[in-house]
Amino acid sequence: MQILEKYGRDDIAWVFLGKTSKGNTVEFVESVQPPIPREDKEVIIISTLVGCPAGCFMCDAGGFYEGKLSAGEMLEQIDYIVCKRFGDFKVPSKKFKIQFARMGEPALNDEVLEVLKELPRRYIAPGLLPSISTIAPVAREAFFESLIEIKNEYYASGRFQLQFSIHSTDYRQRDAIIPVKKWNFKDIAEYGKRFYKEGDRKITLNFALGKENIIEAEKIREFFDPDIFLIKITPVNPTYRAIENNIESAVDSGKKALPYHPGLLEKFEEFGYQVILSIGELEENKIGSNCGQFVQRHLNSKLKISEAYKYESIR
Ligand code: SF4
Repeated sequence: MQILEKYGRDDIAWVFLGKTSKGNTVEFVESVQPPIPREDKEVIIISTLVGCPAGCFMCDAGGFYEGKLSAGEMLEQIDYIVCKRFGDFKVPSKKFKIQFARMGEPALNDEVLEVLKELPRRYIAPGLLPSISTIAPVAREAFFESLIEIKNEYYASGRFQLQFSIHSTDYRQRDAIIPVKKWNFKDIAEYGKRFYKEGDRKITLNFALGKENIIEAEKIREFFDPDIFLIKITPVNPTYRAIENNIESAVDSGKKALPYHPGLLEKFEEFGYQVILSIGELEENKIGSNCGQFVQRHLNSKLKISEAYKYESIR
């Protein structure tokens, strides 16, 4: 892995721009979540595709697509951070989360499955916790079936995280936000029932919440069992795509509240869901390491977002 640029600071996050051994330019992230010390939690977020064909409304990594990364190219991203941080392939952190979520929808690349099989062999990492976040594109059933087998074989008893991007309960609006063919709620709910085993982490239903997003807790409850699924609400981070598409975040990060969706959190809780309002470090917006952000889009854009991508590159 040849590092081209890096942005960030050690106590929050680094974004790396690198060239893989096959010559593809990728972005990947290392982060901690203060005040949690690195000994307790280390997070790596890697790219799985070069660009992304999905082109979700608020994501800067979509809108162009140049192919899939090999398993080796994904592992190069992890190896680089692990070896730089810990000196060898041993990661002592109590939780070592690897998210397949920087650039690319992971379910579009079968090589992700090979990486998942390789991780426990490659690293001495008792806290290893892979995390797949997906829009559940259609025609990828074989990928998702293999995912169940791999989770059961390698990551039983709660050592795997699966998240589905939902964003809206209005199908038309959801299609606008995620403009590709994908599983509907019934498909996700039925898969979740087969995926989930006692002792597993609950499956996350994620809502990146914009002011205009329509969310009916009743509709979620109609399909999704609170014993299997939990709800996670996140802000829409400052991205170029969010600005182009006039999406304003509906999360008041300071007050940790949803002023445009009053009573929503409570309603989900009444239905028995575990609810996570996940706000994260605002400084990550300035670094460009947050979800949906993509440094290359920033570098190529004439417009500049005032509250994001404020760090100079360190080589
Ligand atoms: S959110 Fe994920 S699936 Fe959507 S464009 Fe971005 S990388 Fe692709």
